[in-house]
Amino acid sequence: MTKEKVLWGYDEKTGPEMWGHICSDFEIAHTGKAQSPVNIEQADVVKLKPSTMKFYYKETDYTIRRIEQSVHVFPHDKEQGLRFNGEYYPLVSFHAHIPAEHLLDGYIYPIEWHFVHEKPDGTTLVMSAWMEIDNTNNVEFKDLPTYFPEVFADFETEREITLDVNEFMPEERVFYTYQGSRTTPPTVEGVTWIVLKNAKTLGQEDFTEFEKAIGNTSRPVQDLNGREITFYN
Ligand SMILES: [Zn+2]
Repeated sequence: MTKEKVLWGYDEKTGPEMWGHICSDFEIAHTGKAQSPVNIEQADVVKLKPSTMKFYYKETDYTIRRIEQSVHVFPHDKEQGLRFNGEYYPLVSFHAHIPAEHLLDGYIYPIEWHFVHEKPDGTTLVMSAWMEIDNTNNVEFKDLPTYFPEVFADFETEREITLDVNEFMPEERVFYTYQGSRTTPPTVEGVTWIVLKNAKTLGQEDFTEFEKAIGNTSRPVQDLNGREITFYN
């Protein structure tokens, strides 16, 4: 079992309240004015016209490995992605947080997936998808739930999987969008967030496996500081 030193975590000593004080690179966690996640109050959002967002996800091969305090899933090709406001953003990796980081009218979903997209110039867009626990209509995760605890236990363990990330997203992809930051250190700003409004469901058994690896990996909500959240329907 390999140990790797990770400066930050989610406990009292190295957790979200301390991130801004751990090292100069992490300072923005407490000095930033456009931090993530946030609570989305539906009554306060600005409504926009129908979305022109286009998705280009299909079944493809992924490598799963632990990075810092989470398990990350990396596509082998660069053809996964989405088009938003005329710009194409390739998917570079995805991961999850338990419980959810973004809240909807204060409601905390059990899990939130983050699909991290990056343009060649470094511009970042993260699409977030909540899930509710329900044993009737589940996501086809294949072996992903089994792999999460295995990979989390050892920084050198990798697993391969073939997945279609469309599975993780609801049919009707209406969404909220705002400008924020990464939610793990360094919490750099300039991130475009797309938060899907509708949530799919996952089974309790799958959830329990994910929780073994990444339970308690949520940063608390941050002040909006006057930022606007818009809703595309
Ligand atoms: Zn995340």
